[in-house]
Amino acid sequence: MTTVTHPDAHAEAGPFECAVCQFDQAAQRLNLDEGLREVLANPRRELSVSFPVKMDDGSLRVFRGFRVHHNEARGPGKGGLRYSTAVDLNEVRALAMWMTWKCAVARLPFGGAKGGVNVDPHSLSVGELERLTRRYGSEIGPFIGPERDIPAPDVGTNEKIMAWLMDTYSMSQGYSVPASFTGKPVSVGGSVGRAEATGRGIFFVTQEAYRQAGRSLEGSTVAVQGFGNVGSVTAWLFAKAGANVVAVSDANRAVYCRSGLNIEEIIAGTREASRLPASHPGDIITNDELLTLPVDILIPAAIEGQITGRNASAVQAKMIVEGANGPVNCSADFILKAKGITVIPDIVANSGGVIVSYFEWVQDLQSLFWREEHINRRLERMIVDAFREVESERAREGGTLREAAYRLAVSRVVEAIEARGVFP
Ligand code: NAD
Repeated sequence: MTTVTHPDAHAEAGPFECAVCQFDQAAQRLNLDEGLREVLANPRRELSVSFPVKMDDGSLRVFRGFRVHHNEARGPGKGGLRYSTAVDLNEVRALAMWMTWKCAVARLPFGGAKGGVNVDPHSLSVGELERLTRRYGSEIGPFIGPERDIPAPDVGTNEKIMAWLMDTYSMSQGYSVPASFTGKPVSVGGSVGRAEATGRGIFFVTQEAYRQAGRSLEGSTVAVQGFGNVGSVTAWLFAKAGANVVAVSDANRAVYCRSGLNIEEIIAGTREASRLPASHPGDIITNDELLTLPVDILIPAAIEGQITGRNASAVQAKMIVEGANGPVNCSADFILKAKGITVIPDIVANSGGVIVSYFEWVQDLQSLFWREEHINRRLERMIVDAFREVESERAREGGTLREAAYRLAVSRVVEAIEARGVFP
């Protein structure tokens, strides 16, 4: 007899409990065998490391890092690396599980993985950051590789860090292995279009949802939480398409201007200050206030657990597009569904990053590189196809887009597990 925990029980739960709750709902709907359910509710492998880094003042500091492989039935592990003081095993497990479903929805030949280090990268000098990165890369070395697990950037990491990691892995092998990491600089085997891919994918998916509803993005009002890689590119693309981006935020503050923000100016200011510029036309509001603004489209693009049972009933947006992983938790989903707010789930909406990471991996393995127009076209085709499949599943079987996406993802992973059989 299988039991599904009511989402209310997860109101204040950690990200992994939330991920399992989402999976449980799909497993129950698919009548999944109890054994398979147990397999998929647990990560396949978890590596937890403690390692020393020599600081600039000569002292030694010990850091904790993780790499988790959730499931590899459909291919090698794929997923980002996060540097943040919120990183722990619970968070990395959740992010790894979400990657399994995301790769399956996009029909990529990858399983789900994720990693991270508990550190505030902004508190380190460049030298300390490089030593931390190389030592962490060496600690997870036996776990990764182009046929095993291919990490990419996530919160707090970037293409420079991917280049150090690829170099560290290559040194251990004795030759260059560009396909070991994605999200690298183009000069060392990165792909054009990768840096913008997640934001671009969010834009394509929202545009398609609007197109299906017979509407245009032009003139729609948009609020974006998080102004890093994902949030800034997303805001820029929506503004370019004629949407009115009225609010953006980073971890410190949010800016709101009813008549619309100048996103290019804010991007330029952020580049200089590494955070949203202190003075900008518009009102300074809190991140909590941004989440409940009366807008057409709300795009949480920062971290998980932002819309919960605590604030979901105050959300006024008509549509939420999950740029971040896990920004809406299980109990919030219940409330948003009752309010009739459409949520385009993370495992579809932000899959542009992993889709172009897949293109980067393929290009590195072939040492044959594509043009940006080709990449953007293929990205659009793949992500729009994935969204249409999810939408058709929802129309056929009912429920929310998240429930439909999970049913597709879980059944594809189960199909792979059953085709391979259980070893030995
Ligand atoms: P980033 O480090 O470039 O930017 C993160 C942004 O969020 C920054 O502006 C930061 O100030 C802000 N932020 C951090 N904590 C916050 C908080 N508590 N409240 C409000 N804002 C906060 O990271 P990113 O690569 O843009 O990733 C953002 C999200 O998108 C994450 O959930 C990540 O897992 C997800 N994602 C990233 C990619 C990718 O390709 N980078 C792909 C898919 C999903």
